[in-house]
Amino acid sequence: MYCKNCGKEINNDVEFCPYCGTSTNEKTNLTNQNTNPSDTGSAGWAVLGFFVPLVGLILYLVWRETEPKNAKMAGKGALISAIIYVSLIIILLICGIITAFLLPYLLPILFPNGL
Ligand SMILES: [Zn+2]
Repeated sequence: MYCKNCGKEINNDVEFCPYCGTSTNEKTNLTNQNTNPSDTGSAGWAVLGFFVPLVGLILYLVWRETEPKNAKMAGKGALISAIIYVSLIIILLICGIITAFLLPYLLPILFPNGL
């Protein structure tokens, strides 16, 4: 490849141009240039993702490339929300199963005279 600063041919493996010292790592430069000023990683996106997990998920997918910090926050909020929802469903299921198992024993206590 050729140095983008001085134009001399240089080895692909080197990180800096041996002639002028310019970094040859274009990925690093591109990442810095592409940093979006609105990509603040605000906790507000996590809150939004928490209360509206679907929006958080969509924002995460849309922003993954352009605003990775905001995407991470929105995705994190949605994930925490999803974990809490799933936990609640599991707890309710366990309560339901326990109740179903105990019902034959509970019924005579609750309704001693029969239903
Ligand atoms: Zn150079």
